[in-house]
Amino acid sequence: MLDFVHPLSDDFENIYFVEGERKGYYPFSHSLLIGNYLIDTGISGTRLKKLEQQFQINTTILSHWHEDHISGNKFLPNSSFLCHKDDKPPIEDIEKMFPYYRVEGTEAGREFRTLFEMFGMSNTKITKTINDNEIINIDDQLKLKVVHTPGHTAGHCAVYEINSKIAFFGDIDLTRFPYYANIDSDLIDYENSIDRLKNLDFEIAVLGHRDPVFGGNNIKIELDKFKSIIFKRDERILSNLSEQNPISPIDLKGKNLIYRRYSYANFEVISELVMIEKHFEKLLKNNLIVIKDNGYILN
Ligand SMILES: [Zn+2]
Repeated sequence: MLDFVHPLSDDFENIYFVEGERKGYYPFSHSLLIGNYLIDTGISGTRLKKLEQQFQINTTILSHWHEDHISGNKFLPNSSFLCHKDDKPPIEDIEKMFPYYRVEGTEAGREFRTLFEMFGMSNTKITKTINDNEIINIDDQLKLKVVHTPGHTAGHCAVYEINSKIAFFGDIDLTRFPYYANIDSDLIDYENSIDRLKNLDFEIAVLGHRDPVFGGNNIKIELDKFKSIIFKRDERILSNLSEQNPISPIDLKGKNLIYRRYSYANFEVISELVMIEKHFEKLLKNNLIVIKDNGYILN
């Protein structure tokens, strides 16, 4: 067995956690392998080639459009590719990722392009789109169910195998860093998606960027913890608002309100600003802030 491919269950021998390079830290990610079906391709090109040789992957489901989950598509020439319709455009045309991240024409955009070149990223033709609650029959025993979980991206999907209750949560990744910094992110959707996963019954959750979590109760606890990080960000942003002096998201740019320190400053300052905007949208919808003049004040 390949040293990065780990069986997840004694009862279901064809289900594996496939560990991404560098423990799945960005720009890599983890995958789930179920029979000949692979979820996501960010484990690294070297690992994918080895995996393909041993398991003959014929179908790949992409949890969402982010580069760190699709970078290895080109190493699977015999596979079809499935994703939700809302995430299809930037997968079929990776140039669209630049405006999605709002980095077109910026230094961050140039750095981002360097990363693309490093991975030899290319467009992927989506064979078929997948829908919420769709069931995909792999064989007599293995049946995948799609759970549309928007927020991180508009078409982000989790999937789970019905009999084993082994799930792939993608980038509802239960790390300390919920991310919603594309123009197609939505914070209220993100929170609702976390709640939806919490209301389902899982045994094992495989995650984009950390080791799997085992046990239904542990998964629920981790989902709550993950959501509480978003609430802490709400509070930090609200503490910068007053009842008198209107401010806008741009006034909070570059203040480390979400990133404690910037590792890739050019990109992360933009990401942080987009995420702050998502908080403002949510706080406005929830009537915690109101518009005054050209900015926002506490309600
Ligand atoms: Zn992502």
